[in-house]
Amino acid sequence: MEHSENCIFCKIISGDIASEFLFQDEALVAFKDIKPIAPVHVLIVPKKHVRSINDLTAGDEALISRMIMAAKDLAKQTGVNKSGYRLFFNVEKGGGQEIFHLHLHLIGGWV
Ligand code: 5GP
Ligand code: ZN
Repeated sequence: MEHSENCIFCKIISGDIASEFLFQDEALVAFKDIKPIAPVHVLIVPKKHVRSINDLTAGDEALISRMIMAAKDLAKQTGVNKSGYRLFFNVEKGGGQEIFHLHLHLIGGWV
C-alpha cells in the first residue's frame, strides 16, 4: 500500500495512531471525525494515499464507487439513512481541504 510520510491519515490507517474504525476492508477505512460538525460525522478514507480528487486517475473509478457504497452502508450503520445525510469532498485549500489524503465526509443526524 502506498503510504505517505507525515500524513496523519496514513498513520491512522497503518495503526501508528490508534483509532477505532467503524468499517474497514482491503481498500478503505472509516472513522469518526475528531472535530465533528454534525451529530454524525464519519470520514471514508482509501488506504492508498491519494492527495485529493484532482489526483485520481483512470484506474481509480472502482475506488470512488467503493467509497460511495461504503458511505451508504455507514449511513445505515450510524442510523442516519432514513432521516438523510450529506456526502462531500473538499478539494484543495480553496475547497476547504485541510488533510491532503483523499476522504469522503458523511454528515447527518440533525433530525
Ligand atoms: P478536510 O477539511 O481536509 O476535508 O477534512 C479533514 C477532516 O479531518 C476535518 O473534519 C478534521 O476535523 C478531521 N481530522 C483532522 N485530524 C484528524 C485526526 O487525527 N483524527 C480524526 N479522526 N479526524 C481528524
Ligand atoms: Zn496519506
